[in-house]
Amino acid sequence: MRSVAQLADSLGGLTGKRVLVRSDLNVPLDGETITDDGRIRASVSTIEDLRARGAKVIVMAHLGRPKGEPEDRYSLAPAGRRLGELLGCEVVLASDTVGEAATAAVEAMDDGDVVLLENVRFNPGETSKDDAERGGFADRLAALGDAFVSDGFGVVHRKQASVYDVAQRLPNAAGGLVLDEIEVLRRLTEDPDRPYAVVLGGSKVSDKLGVIDSLLTKADTLLVGGGMVFTFLKAQGHEVGSSLLEEDQLDAVRGYLRQAEEAGVQIVLPSDVVVAAELKADSAATVVAAQEMPADQIGLDIGPDSSRHFAEVLGGAHTVFWNGPMGVFEIAAFAAGTKAVAQALTEIDGLSVVGGGDSAAAVRKLGFDDDQFGHISTGGGASLEYLEGKTLPGIDVLTP
Ligand code: ADP
Ligand code: MG
Repeated sequence: MRSVAQLADSLGGLTGKRVLVRSDLNVPLDGETITDDGRIRASVSTIEDLRARGAKVIVMAHLGRPKGEPEDRYSLAPAGRRLGELLGCEVVLASDTVGEAATAAVEAMDDGDVVLLENVRFNPGETSKDDAERGGFADRLAALGDAFVSDGFGVVHRKQASVYDVAQRLPNAAGGLVLDEIEVLRRLTEDPDRPYAVVLGGSKVSDKLGVIDSLLTKADTLLVGGGMVFTFLKAQGHEVGSSLLEEDQLDAVRGYLRQAEEAGVQIVLPSDVVVAAELKADSAATVVAAQEMPADQIGLDIGPDSSRHFAEVLGGAHTVFWNGPMGVFEIAAFAAGTKAVAQALTEIDGLSVVGGGDSAAAVRKLGFDDDQFGHISTGGGASLEYLEGKTLPGIDVLTP
């Protein structure tokens, strides 16, 4: 992969060049209010670099999952406003992706200007499985630029027009965010500093099978919490009440427990669990032993003993990768486990990495700063696929 500096060298500088940048501005919104602007902040540095080089910067991004046509609630307008505030310059939002508005906005640009195209998923070509349809959209995107910079790490695992096909049509480079993300993930897979602990939580085992498979042979310790832990507890023969349970994953989990034992990898499960009769902010929460859960209760967080024990294990690690909240952190009564793990990560003597959209949102919501961690990945799915050892189409396609 070439860096922006290498791309600039190969083109005799970027002054006056129209550079299409794929950024990840897919932020959570409450109406028009951005509830976590982490991805926008992470996108600023590459855009600033391009502006400083005198490029005309045309940003491509998506928001949510519109069905290939414009929908107001998926407009990038709030993201564009926030991006403008962070850059300290005007960000012109084109009201379409490759239509008249986009063409006119790009034609009106001066060196250093920033245009944001409207949500690329408003065009059915963006996510089409049909190469010709995707390619047709990519042709029109590519016509707006002289070069392409891939900086949306959260989408590099997608074979989509603005990520993959555009890269085939223009001189290209990886942005600083993508290069940083890949470097950190490489350190987690190639010769990590030991002891290496992996903490997994979140809602579903089935989302994380690939990553468990791959990390089970690389980590020294695997700590499990969140909704997925109940499939582990059930696999060991315990009652889990009405907790999240994936019956169809019980065999897979039994396999992991066996595999870990054979490989000498320690799997740490919670010893206690916070339960409630209902998933509600005001339902009475109690702490029970993980092996004696009442049949009429739901497990919604790891308990205080588990939090202490998890923090202790993490305290001895030199490399930690964490994906998936330990409980339903969105509700204060079930956020303590997630907070304890986050706190432990901030105290690691070594590399601590937080991956996953909800995990990243959780640490910010719980009051931590990004710079208390070694790295907070902007790409949940992309970082998991990298750790699974899959090739990421949006990386693979870039000029080496
Ligand atoms: P990430 O986006 O970081 O990969 P996931 O999407 O896998 O994380 O999971 C996040 C979700 O898991 C959160 O919305 C959280 O409420 C939920 N969750 C965590 N623990 C539990 C639990 N015990 N029961 C139900 N849901 C849970
Ligand atoms: Mg998630």
